[in-house]
Amino acid sequence: MTRSGSSPLHAYRGALVDFVADPHDQGDAACRFIDDGVLLVRDGRVERRGRADEVLPALPPGTEVTDHRGKLILPGFIDTHIHYAQTDMIGSYGEQLLAWLENYTFPTERAFDDPVHAREVARFFIKELLRNGTTTAMVFATVHRVSVDAIFEAAAAENLCLVAGKVMMDRNCPDFLRDSPASSYEDGVALIEQWHGKGRLHYAVTPRFAPTSTEEQLRVAQRLLDEHPGTFFQSHVAENPQEVGWVAELFPWSRSYLDVYDRFALLRERAVFAHCIHLDERDRERLAASGAAASFCATSNLFLGSGLFDPQRAADVGMRVGIGTDVGAGTSFSMLRTLDESYKVAQMGGHRLSPLRAFYLATLGGARSLYLDDSIGNFDPGKYADFVVLDPAATPLLERRMAHTEALADRLFLLMTLGDDRAVAATYIGGRRAHDRGALSA
Ligand SMILES: [Zn+2]
Repeated sequence: MTRSGSSPLHAYRGALVDFVADPHDQGDAACRFIDDGVLLVRDGRVERRGRADEVLPALPPGTEVTDHRGKLILPGFIDTHIHYAQTDMIGSYGEQLLAWLENYTFPTERAFDDPVHAREVARFFIKELLRNGTTTAMVFATVHRVSVDAIFEAAAAENLCLVAGKVMMDRNCPDFLRDSPASSYEDGVALIEQWHGKGRLHYAVTPRFAPTSTEEQLRVAQRLLDEHPGTFFQSHVAENPQEVGWVAELFPWSRSYLDVYDRFALLRERAVFAHCIHLDERDRERLAASGAAASFCATSNLFLGSGLFDPQRAADVGMRVGIGTDVGAGTSFSMLRTLDESYKVAQMGGHRLSPLRAFYLATLGGARSLYLDDSIGNFDPGKYADFVVLDPAATPLLERRMAHTEALADRLFLLMTLGDDRAVAATYIGGRRAHDRGALSA
């Protein structure tokens, strides 16, 4: 190796679990597990993964080994849908989507025209992601440019891979949150030039959802994407039956809610649509064929009484799917909690969401949704060493239940059923420990 000696190797020992891409995107057959494994990291990137008894004896003398034996080392979680500005309104009582936006969301987001407030929330939000083992997120800011600056600055400070964008919203919202097609274009161009491709940051063109954008503004969204190849797109679709009916009134020419986005060529690679609940078969097939992805936001969908996403139908048509916490309608930053609820949602639809598929969706599935699987999502050599260390004995109940559990799938299932932020022993970004729950042996 010509690079050896140039910069130090670091070894992390534990049970290594990751996934490889599966042409059918089903996950189960694609798990890689090394019970006593070592992840070798150099310059923030994965150099190699292998068995401890093979890798350790061949290490150069003096190589530092961090011992996570007894714990599981997985690629960091990828949250494909979350609103940082809604951190302070998580757990707001009593409403479904449209009234919830009116009564809670809009007043909360108003405060993000203040850069000091935006920065304070953004820093807390990034720490909260790290405490939960989330190493990449696709994030809604607010309509204010400074809110985007704040979240990108906070992510850059931790070297986090983050996708975010300014909300575009030029109708059906309060005056204090309304932009215009012209201003959203100017702001979009300025933010893309300032942030997109800077370090590990990516810009997403972000109309909140079809009802709050005029057709002229949706055309602006298309133009921003076409003029800036490589940028991302995020929005919401088919979350709530009332919302679906409203979209049919606002866009009488549309065949379906999804069709509105399709008309403006917004179904494309690197586009992520949150929820995708009330879709028909034609929509599902169209979404899959376009290369766009769905974000499955189980806690949010249950909390707002929106409906049940169908992960099985999505898999059947070959749709790209990732997991989203959707804070603040979602009730937890924890991807473990979110997988637990995802399993229950699948159960309500008469399907099983296997633990291997669940963890695949939370890692490589998310990376594939974002078309970032060349740099994150598993432990292939050259990828960023973004990983999470999960403690199967984090709580008395986990420890007790885990004591009689051997198979990897069963252990993962218990972690998603009983685990939360307490099960996240450490989170690493580019090989740097960015969160440490303490009590680590070195
Ligand atoms: Zn959302």
